[in-house]
Amino acid sequence: MTAVPQERKLVTAIPGPKSQELQARRLGAVAGGVGSVLPVFTKRLDGGILEDVDGNRLIDFGSGIAVTSVGGSAEAVVRRATAQLADFTHTCFMVTPYEGYVEVCEALAELTPGDHAKKSALFNSGAEAVENAVKIARAYTKRQAVVVFDHGYHGRTNLTMALTAKNMPYKHGFGPFAPEVYRVPVAYGYRWPTGAENCGPEAAAQAIDQITKQIGAENVAAIIIEPVLGEGGFIEPAKGFLPAIVEFANDNGIVFVADEIQSGFCRTGQWFACEDEGIVPDLITTAKGIAGGLPLAAVTGRAEIMDAAHAGGLGGTYGGNPVACAGALGSIETMKELDLNAKAKEIESLMKARLSAMQEKYEIIGDIRGRGAMIAIELVKDPASKTPNPEAAAALAKACHAEGVIVLTCGTYGNVLRFLPPLVIGEDLLNEGLDVIEAAFATV
Ligand SMILES: *Cc1c(COP(=O)(O)O)cnc(C)c1O
Repeated sequence: MTAVPQERKLVTAIPGPKSQELQARRLGAVAGGVGSVLPVFTKRLDGGILEDVDGNRLIDFGSGIAVTSVGGSAEAVVRRATAQLADFTHTCFMVTPYEGYVEVCEALAELTPGDHAKKSALFNSGAEAVENAVKIARAYTKRQAVVVFDHGYHGRTNLTMALTAKNMPYKHGFGPFAPEVYRVPVAYGYRWPTGAENCGPEAAAQAIDQITKQIGAENVAAIIIEPVLGEGGFIEPAKGFLPAIVEFANDNGIVFVADEIQSGFCRTGQWFACEDEGIVPDLITTAKGIAGGLPLAAVTGRAEIMDAAHAGGLGGTYGGNPVACAGALGSIETMKELDLNAKAKEIESLMKARLSAMQEKYEIIGDIRGRGAMIAIELVKDPASKTPNPEAAAALAKACHAEGVIVLTCGTYGNVLRFLPPLVIGEDLLNEGLDVIEAAFATV
């Protein structure tokens, strides 16, 4: 069992010689379209530390994009997945079922918001879950149009590329995209022309006006939104926006889908980020943090909607793989046992306090936002113009990587530095990572 010492330690330059050797092999064999943020090859991952093949130990503020929330080798995940591997690797649930799949669906019914009857279907990836949510919503409503939002991200398959807002790198050159997808404004408080206080209701009114005038509410099958927008820049829709959209969906027979693939499973200090404004989605898509690093995704929702697709209409060879289901049960067990919602809230208060202190010194920090262990800073040229500063985000990330702290960037303008530490990270490592970020500001 892995037990990586929980300390940052650099023994070579980053990336080290062994990583560079592997990177050279990778460039010869792996398609160029598949990128890596930091070409450091991983040996072990545990708690808040990634150990690379050169023996460097890096502080992990990325969690493999919000996946390894319980750590990269959590005891319960490894124990349950190992036991399952020894029993059987696969049957295909559509051929002969197994208990783990049912148990995960039962857990999803218990953990997701609302006390109505719920059902789930399991898949392999987030994009696949979103695609299936659209299939289910169309089957239920017998309508076709799908509404998504500015800055939204929903995946890289053909339909989910259409649902995703940003051209580079997700869509460029990959069209034509799926039809009947419509994009409307989102309540991005920091950049709303009349100010953050007015943003929620004003953005909701604009979005609803566009839907009714340009599509017709009676043609809309689903409205899909991330309760905290992830790749688009960790944008929390301004207060009042989500409840207004949900009310509009309910009044018009539209299926409201919360894409909680990044924000779900304790990441924001709640099981699901939509709980923050008491929102009960009709359907909810999950993946990333669900299974401690194993590939699993789900659509969960109102039983009558989930049952709308005809028998055999949903599924896939690997969907709800037994080892991935065992990983999910281990991950959920860990989240409950260690109360990782409380841990995420502690991470938020520590990070926001430290980042606010940095903002007083460095005015290129335009905005600090996010919830729980999903925190970001938006970098600008100066606070008055709010001109995006992607160069600073890239330079800061590079400086952090060189010092052994894995951070990621995001945002439509590429100017957001985001922090997604594993929820099990120690407070000392969290502070040390923030020290490195602060020192990076002094150098750029
Ligand atoms: C990552 C992500 C997806 C896509 O998930 P994949 O597993 O990469 O297909 C969809 N929606 C959101 C909000 C995401 O963050």
